[in-house]
Amino acid sequence: MAIKTRKEYIDSIRNLKPNVYISGEKIENIVESPYLRTTINNLSLGYDWANDPQYEGLLTNWSTLINEKVSFWAHIRKDDDDLMQMVRAINNFSGKYLCTMCMSMGLAALWAITYEIDQAKGTEYHQRFKNFFIKLQREDLRFVLGVMDPKGDRQLPPSKQPDPDLFLRVVEKRPDGIVVNGAKMHTTSAPVAHYFVASPSRVLGPDDEDYALAFVCPTDTKGITFITRPAAGPLEQKDMENPISSQIGFVESLSVFDNVFIPWENVFMCGEWDFTGGFINYFSSYVRLAKGTCIAARTEMLSGITAQVAEYNGVEKAAHIRNKITDMIMDAKIGYGCAVAAAKLATVHPSGIAFPDILTSNAGLYNTRLKYIHHLGVMQEIAGGVVTTMPVEADYKHPEIGPLVKKYMQGKVGTSVEERYRILQLIQDMTASRLTGYLIGSAVCAGGTPETNRVEVFRNYNLAERKENAKVLARIKSDPYWGGGL
Ligand SMILES: Cc1cc2nc3c(=O)[nH]c(=O)nc-3n(C[C@H](O)[C@H](O)[C@H](O)COP(=O)(O)OP(=O)(O)OC[C@H]3O[C@@H](n4cnc5c(N)ncnc54)[C@H](O)[C@@H]3O)c2cc1C
Repeated sequence: MAIKTRKEYIDSIRNLKPNVYISGEKIENIVESPYLRTTINNLSLGYDWANDPQYEGLLTNWSTLINEKVSFWAHIRKDDDDLMQMVRAINNFSGKYLCTMCMSMGLAALWAITYEIDQAKGTEYHQRFKNFFIKLQREDLRFVLGVMDPKGDRQLPPSKQPDPDLFLRVVEKRPDGIVVNGAKMHTTSAPVAHYFVASPSRVLGPDDEDYALAFVCPTDTKGITFITRPAAGPLEQKDMENPISSQIGFVESLSVFDNVFIPWENVFMCGEWDFTGGFINYFSSYVRLAKGTCIAARTEMLSGITAQVAEYNGVEKAAHIRNKITDMIMDAKIGYGCAVAAAKLATVHPSGIAFPDILTSNAGLYNTRLKYIHHLGVMQEIAGGVVTTMPVEADYKHPEIGPLVKKYMQGKVGTSVEERYRILQLIQDMTASRLTGYLIGSAVCAGGTPETNRVEVFRNYNLAERKENAKVLARIKSDPYWGGGL
């Protein structure tokens, strides 16, 4: 039994007892908590699609590890076609529901780095990691990635921080396992996942050995506390308002580890600081491809919503409106094009996993994420100020004042007032709500800030070769085919 249904997923997390606090409340039952309703729904939609024949092969893959159909989230991608399938899946799913938990694609980096450490040091990390993967695949379980540490003073490496817990670290090694202490910051959806995977957040030096750490543990492991920020939307399901954020949401956790025991079979890195550079590089190429695809899909989503509201407002034929929608589509396609290129230019690591081209994945995300924020503003401009000023749902439905609201919310002649009102509520949710803040944060920071895209591009680009070419063009350096005359 590889692919779970929505019900099986919810039943499986019903048995978990993670230590979760949300808004000062201790959550006793994660499945029944109104705070977690939309996050559970977000993950459940992935299970729904995996079981829907019309999406066959999109959120499912064939595993050569267990010779079964497995979930998209627990797949090892072996070549460029596999990566293209990932791009198609994120493009489709995020284009409808905003989020494919694409950050989790970064787990692939551990596949490669555990292999490299084993080759160099004779450790057993890769087999342990493979065993974990097989479990994920067999039982169709979900994990979250705790990469980012709280980090304290950004100028200081972990070992120089006045408080040593500002990066998650090993405090004890025992014959049967290790004890870890510290925290990971901003872990998305942690309380409703089966596993927590921790990994380093930066390149480390020899003094930071204790921080070179990767492992997995069940989310309800003793000693872990999730201090969880509620999702952006309302706690209850709405009819007209918050059409997105009342259905799907993303809780965020400060995940605190208070002397947590991790058995050796769940440890994938412990002290190998000299492999953290490689890990970050692999992580970067995967996550930036996934994130770039996701933001491109979200931009395409904006083009449809904007075109629809323009129609209800009667301005769909205006040249400037068409131009602005065209810009949205073009930016979405540039982002998608970079994602396709990054997938197609993949290289295969000796461990058998394919890595996207790091240059195009970072360049694509950099461009698309900043444009996305601009287009959110454009969508609001085209919808008009009513997005932030219109009467609320209770007034729209009120027996006495409702007819007045409907009279004055009429748009283009012959169009439905209710449809226009619903689209405006959607735009309100996306551009003028707590969800807006989340969408902006997710575009700007999640998966690493735009500056990290610049760093990766500069670090990985072969500028030396281009400089040599400049010398040839300027005839500083000779070349048999250039500058020799006819
Ligand atoms: C919605 C959302 C979901 C997320 N989900 C997850 C998740 O599931 N798991 C996870 O692990 N993380 C997650 N993250 C965290 C995300 O990866 C980080 O926010 C991101 O990598 C930036 O790190 P930071 O927030 O610590 O910012 P910082 O690193 O503090 O960056 C802030 C600014 O300071 C600059 N800066 C930082 N250090 C230096 C320096 N030494 N020198 C010069 N400039 C510097 C940066 O370039 C940036 O401009 C999520 C974030 C968001 C917003």
